[in-house]
Amino acid sequence: MFLEIENLTMQFGGLVAVNGFSLGVAEGTIQGLIGPNGSGKTTIFNVLSGYYKPSGGKITFKGKRISGLPSYRVTASGFARTFQNLRLFKSMTVLENVLVGMAQHAETGLLSAIFNPIAISHEEEYFHEKAMGLLKLLDIAEFADTLATSLPYGHQRRVEIARALGTDPKVLLLDEPAAGLNETESENLRKILLQIRELGVTICLVEHDMKLVMGICDRITVLDYGKKIAEGTSSEIAKDPVVIEAYLGQEDNS
Ligand code: ADP
Ligand code: MG
Repeated sequence: MFLEIENLTMQFGGLVAVNGFSLGVAEGTIQGLIGPNGSGKTTIFNVLSGYYKPSGGKITFKGKRISGLPSYRVTASGFARTFQNLRLFKSMTVLENVLVGMAQHAETGLLSAIFNPIAISHEEEYFHEKAMGLLKLLDIAEFADTLATSLPYGHQRRVEIARALGTDPKVLLLDEPAAGLNETESENLRKILLQIRELGVTICLVEHDMKLVMGICDRITVLDYGKKIAEGTSSEIAKDPVVIEAYLGQEDNS
Protein backbone atom coordinates (compact mmCIF):
# COMPACT_ATOMS: atom_id res chain seq x y z
CA MET A 1 0.00 0.00 0.00
CA PHE A 2 1.12 3.56 -0.81
CA LEU A 3 0.64 4.81 2.73
CA GLU A 4 0.21 2.26 5.48
CA ILE A 5 -0.59 2.96 9.10
CA GLU A 6 -0.29 -0.16 11.23
CA ASN A 7 -1.57 -0.55 14.75
CA LEU A 8 -0.73 3.05 15.61
CA THR A 9 -0.98 4.10 19.25
CA MET A 10 -0.36 7.54 20.72
CA GLN A 11 -0.49 8.05 24.44
CA PHE A 12 -0.23 11.29 26.37
CA GLY A 13 0.43 10.25 29.95
CA GLY A 14 -2.56 8.14 30.88
CA LEU A 15 -4.64 9.29 27.93
CA VAL A 16 -4.72 7.04 24.87
CA ALA A 17 -5.51 9.48 22.05
CA VAL A 18 -5.00 6.92 19.27
CA ASN A 19 -5.52 3.28 20.06
CA GLY A 20 -4.28 0.56 17.69
CA PHE A 21 -5.32 2.42 14.57
CA SER A 22 -4.63 0.92 11.13
CA LEU A 23 -5.31 2.37 7.71
CA GLY A 24 -4.07 1.85 4.18
CA VAL A 25 -4.34 4.74 1.73
CA ALA A 26 -4.11 4.10 -2.01
CA GLU A 27 -2.15 6.48 -4.22
CA GLY A 28 -4.13 9.24 -5.90
CA THR A 29 -7.19 8.88 -3.69
CA ILE A 30 -8.95 11.15 -1.24
CA GLN A 31 -9.13 9.43 2.14
CA GLY A 32 -11.59 10.90 4.64
CA LEU A 33 -11.05 10.71 8.37
CA ILE A 34 -14.07 11.63 10.47
CA GLY A 35 -15.14 11.26 14.07
CA PRO A 36 -16.35 13.29 17.04
CA ASN A 37 -14.22 15.97 18.67
CA GLY A 38 -11.34 14.47 20.61
CA SER A 39 -11.46 11.16 18.74
CA GLY A 40 -7.80 11.45 17.70
CA LYS A 41 -7.93 12.78 14.12
CA THR A 42 -5.47 15.65 14.56
CA THR A 43 -3.21 13.42 16.64
CA ILE A 44 -3.00 10.97 13.74
CA PHE A 45 -1.96 13.86 11.47
CA ASN A 46 0.59 14.99 14.05
CA VAL A 47 2.12 11.53 14.14
CA LEU A 48 1.96 11.19 10.35
CA SER A 49 3.80 14.45 9.85
CA GLY A 50 6.47 13.65 12.42
CA TYR A 51 5.40 16.07 15.18
CA TYR A 52 5.03 13.17 17.57
CA LYS A 53 6.79 9.87 17.82
CA PRO A 54 4.09 7.23 18.16
CA SER A 55 3.94 5.21 21.39
CA GLY A 56 3.38 2.11 19.28
CA GLY A 57 2.84 0.83 15.76
CA LYS A 58 4.37 2.01 12.54
CA ILE A 59 3.76 4.04 9.42
CA THR A 60 5.29 3.21 6.06
CA PHE A 61 5.22 5.33 2.93
CA LYS A 62 6.03 3.63 -0.37
CA GLY A 63 7.44 0.75 1.64
CA LYS A 64 9.74 2.85 3.80
CA ARG A 65 9.20 3.47 7.46
CA ILE A 66 8.47 7.12 8.24
CA SER A 67 7.11 6.90 11.79
CA GLY A 68 9.59 8.26 14.29
CA LEU A 69 11.39 10.39 11.69
CA PRO A 70 11.71 14.11 12.47
CA SER A 71 9.14 16.25 10.68
CA TYR A 72 11.60 17.82 8.24
CA ARG A 73 12.44 14.35 6.94
CA VAL A 74 8.79 13.42 6.68
CA THR A 75 8.25 16.64 4.69
CA ALA A 76 11.21 15.79 2.47
CA SER A 77 9.75 12.35 1.81
CA GLY A 78 6.63 13.99 0.35
CA PHE A 79 4.19 15.07 3.05
CA ALA A 80 2.61 18.47 3.56
CA ARG A 81 -0.20 19.61 5.81
CA THR A 82 -2.49 22.40 6.81
CA PHE A 83 -3.60 23.08 10.36
CA GLN A 84 -6.97 23.08 12.05
CA ASN A 85 -6.25 26.66 13.13
CA LEU A 86 -4.83 28.86 10.42
CA ARG A 87 -1.11 29.47 10.62
CA LEU A 88 -0.42 32.24 8.13
CA PHE A 89 2.29 34.86 8.53
CA LYS A 90 0.53 38.07 9.47
CA SER A 91 2.92 40.59 7.98
CA MET A 92 3.26 38.75 4.66
CA THR A 93 1.33 38.93 1.44
CA VAL A 94 -0.42 35.92 -0.01
CA LEU A 95 2.45 35.33 -2.44
CA GLU A 96 5.07 35.65 0.30
CA ASN A 97 3.21 33.16 2.46
CA VAL A 98 3.45 30.62 -0.35
CA LEU A 99 7.09 31.45 -1.15
CA VAL A 100 8.09 30.97 2.47
CA GLY A 101 7.01 27.33 2.34
CA MET A 102 9.05 26.76 -0.80
CA ALA A 103 12.21 28.47 0.45
CA GLN A 104 13.15 25.52 2.63
CA HIS A 105 13.39 23.44 -0.49
CA ALA A 106 15.56 25.83 -2.47
CA GLU A 107 18.17 24.01 -4.53
CA THR A 108 20.73 26.78 -4.64
CA GLY A 109 22.94 26.50 -1.58
CA LEU A 110 24.60 29.42 0.11
CA LEU A 111 27.93 28.88 -1.60
CA SER A 112 26.58 28.73 -5.10
CA ALA A 113 24.50 31.81 -4.29
CA ILE A 114 27.66 33.72 -3.43
CA PHE A 115 29.60 32.53 -6.45
CA ASN A 116 26.78 32.37 -8.93
CA PRO A 117 24.27 35.18 -8.49
CA ILE A 118 22.65 34.24 -11.81
CA ALA A 119 21.65 30.86 -10.43
CA ILE A 120 19.85 32.45 -7.52
CA SER A 121 18.00 34.95 -9.65
CA HIS A 122 16.82 32.11 -11.90
CA GLU A 123 15.73 30.26 -8.84
CA GLU A 124 13.77 33.23 -7.58
CA GLU A 125 12.03 33.54 -10.91
CA TYR A 126 11.24 29.85 -10.89
CA PHE A 127 9.77 29.98 -7.38
CA HIS A 128 7.79 33.07 -8.22
CA GLU A 129 6.27 31.40 -11.30
CA LYS A 130 5.53 28.26 -9.36
CA ALA A 131 3.90 30.14 -6.48
CA MET A 132 1.76 32.12 -8.91
CA GLY A 133 0.73 28.85 -10.56
CA LEU A 134 -0.41 27.52 -7.19
CA LEU A 135 -2.35 30.71 -6.47
CA LYS A 136 -4.09 30.27 -9.83
CA LEU A 137 -4.91 26.67 -8.98
CA LEU A 138 -6.44 27.84 -5.71
CA ASP A 139 -8.19 30.70 -7.54
CA ILE A 140 -6.58 33.43 -5.43
CA ALA A 141 -3.99 34.80 -7.87
CA GLU A 142 -5.66 38.21 -7.90
CA PHE A 143 -4.78 38.55 -4.19
CA ALA A 144 -1.07 37.73 -4.59
CA ASP A 145 0.05 41.10 -3.21
CA THR A 146 -2.62 41.43 -0.54
CA LEU A 147 -1.79 40.83 3.11
CA ALA A 148 -2.89 37.25 3.67
CA THR A 149 -4.63 37.90 6.97
CA SER A 150 -6.73 40.72 5.50
CA LEU A 151 -8.52 38.26 3.21
CA PRO A 152 -11.84 36.60 4.03
CA TYR A 153 -11.43 33.41 6.03
CA GLY A 154 -12.22 31.04 3.16
CA HIS A 155 -9.49 32.61 1.04
CA GLN A 156 -6.98 32.36 3.88
CA ARG A 157 -7.68 28.65 4.04
CA ARG A 158 -6.82 28.43 0.36
CA VAL A 159 -3.55 30.31 0.93
CA GLU A 160 -2.63 27.62 3.44
CA ILE A 161 -3.34 24.89 0.93
CA ALA A 162 -1.29 26.70 -1.75
CA ARG A 163 1.58 27.00 0.70
CA ALA A 164 1.38 23.29 1.54
CA LEU A 165 1.48 22.42 -2.17
CA GLY A 166 4.62 24.54 -2.59
CA THR A 167 6.78 21.67 -1.37
CA ASP A 168 5.46 19.34 -4.14
CA PRO A 169 3.93 16.86 -1.70
CA LYS A 170 2.85 13.38 -2.69
CA VAL A 171 0.49 13.34 0.28
CA LEU A 172 -1.47 16.35 1.49
CA LEU A 173 -2.96 16.26 5.00
CA LEU A 174 -5.84 18.69 5.42
CA ASP A 175 -7.16 19.27 8.94
CA GLU A 176 -10.69 20.68 8.71
CA PRO A 177 -10.12 22.84 5.62
CA ALA A 178 -13.83 23.68 5.37
CA ALA A 179 -14.23 24.84 8.99
CA GLY A 180 -15.84 28.26 8.99
CA LEU A 181 -16.60 28.21 5.27
CA ASN A 182 -20.04 29.02 3.92
CA GLU A 183 -21.73 26.72 1.43
CA THR A 184 -20.38 28.48 -1.68
CA GLU A 185 -16.85 28.49 -0.31
CA SER A 186 -17.15 24.84 0.62
CA GLU A 187 -18.32 24.01 -2.90
CA ASN A 188 -15.33 25.93 -4.32
CA LEU A 189 -13.05 23.99 -2.02
CA ARG A 190 -14.56 20.73 -3.26
CA LYS A 191 -13.66 21.59 -6.85
CA ILE A 192 -10.16 22.64 -5.87
CA LEU A 193 -9.55 19.40 -3.98
CA LEU A 194 -10.68 17.38 -6.98
CA GLN A 195 -8.20 19.33 -9.14
CA ILE A 196 -5.43 18.62 -6.65
CA ARG A 197 -6.24 14.93 -6.79
CA GLU A 198 -6.11 15.16 -10.61
CA LEU A 199 -2.52 16.34 -10.24
CA GLY A 200 -1.76 13.00 -8.61
CA VAL A 201 -1.60 14.23 -5.02
CA THR A 202 -3.04 11.83 -2.46
CA ILE A 203 -5.22 13.65 0.06
CA CYS A 204 -6.07 12.75 3.65
CA LEU A 205 -9.01 14.86 4.73
CA VAL A 206 -10.15 15.44 8.30
CA GLU A 207 -13.44 17.28 8.07
CA HIS A 208 -16.78 17.80 9.80
CA ASP A 209 -18.53 19.16 6.72
CA MET A 210 -20.39 15.96 5.86
CA LYS A 211 -21.56 17.17 2.48
CA LEU A 212 -17.96 17.77 1.47
CA VAL A 213 -16.65 14.53 2.97
CA MET A 214 -19.40 12.35 1.51
CA GLY A 215 -19.20 14.06 -1.86
CA ILE A 216 -15.48 13.87 -2.39
CA CYS A 217 -13.82 11.01 -0.52
CA ASP A 218 -12.95 7.75 -2.26
CA ARG A 219 -12.93 6.08 1.12
CA ILE A 220 -13.83 7.20 4.62
CA THR A 221 -12.59 5.97 7.98
CA VAL A 222 -14.51 6.72 11.15
CA LEU A 223 -12.80 7.17 14.49
CA ASP A 224 -14.24 7.14 17.97
CA TYR A 225 -12.13 7.35 21.12
CA GLY A 226 -8.94 6.78 19.13
CA LYS A 227 -10.21 3.61 17.51
CA LYS A 228 -11.48 2.85 14.05
CA ILE A 229 -15.16 2.03 14.22
CA ALA A 230 -15.95 1.90 10.50
CA GLU A 231 -14.41 2.14 7.07
CA GLY A 232 -15.75 2.17 3.55
CA THR A 233 -17.14 4.25 0.72
CA SER A 234 -19.42 7.18 1.58
CA SER A 235 -22.56 5.19 0.91
CA GLU A 236 -21.34 2.34 3.11
CA ILE A 237 -20.47 4.80 5.88
CA ALA A 238 -23.75 6.70 5.61
CA LYS A 239 -25.82 3.61 6.36
CA ASP A 240 -23.54 2.02 8.94
CA PRO A 241 -25.54 1.83 12.21
CA VAL A 242 -22.39 2.03 14.34
CA VAL A 243 -21.43 5.30 12.63
CA ILE A 244 -24.90 6.77 12.90
CA GLU A 245 -24.95 5.94 16.59
CA ALA A 246 -21.49 7.32 17.37
CA TYR A 247 -21.33 10.21 15.02
CA LEU A 248 -23.77 11.05 12.30
CA GLY A 249 -26.72 10.95 14.67
CA GLN A 250 -25.27 13.72 16.78
CA GLU A 251 -26.57 17.18 16.17
CA ASP A 252 -23.51 18.99 17.46
CA ASN A 253 -20.35 17.48 16.07
CA SER A 254 -18.27 20.62 15.75
P1 ADP B 1 -9.64 15.46 17.18
O1 ADP B 1 -8.72 16.10 16.21
O2 ADP B 1 -10.28 14.22 16.66
O3 ADP B 1 -10.67 16.42 17.70
P2 ADP B 1 -7.29 15.25 18.86
O4 ADP B 1 -6.40 14.34 18.10
O5 ADP B 1 -6.98 16.69 18.81
O6 ADP B 1 -8.81 14.98 18.45
O7 ADP B 1 -7.29 14.83 20.37
C1 ADP B 1 -7.48 13.49 20.81
C2 ADP B 1 -7.29 13.43 22.31
O8 ADP B 1 -5.90 13.58 22.60
C3 ADP B 1 -8.02 14.52 23.06
O9 ADP B 1 -8.49 13.97 24.27
C4 ADP B 1 -6.93 15.53 23.31
O10 ADP B 1 -7.20 16.30 24.43
C5 ADP B 1 -5.71 14.67 23.48
N1 ADP B 1 -4.44 15.31 23.08
C6 ADP B 1 -4.11 15.71 21.84
N2 ADP B 1 -2.87 16.23 21.81
C7 ADP B 1 -2.41 16.18 23.10
C8 ADP B 1 -1.18 16.56 23.74
N3 ADP B 1 -0.18 17.10 23.06
N4 ADP B 1 -1.08 16.33 25.07
C9 ADP B 1 -2.09 15.76 25.75
N5 ADP B 1 -3.25 15.38 25.22
C10 ADP B 1 -3.42 15.57 23.90
MG1 MG C 1 -8.70 18.02 15.43
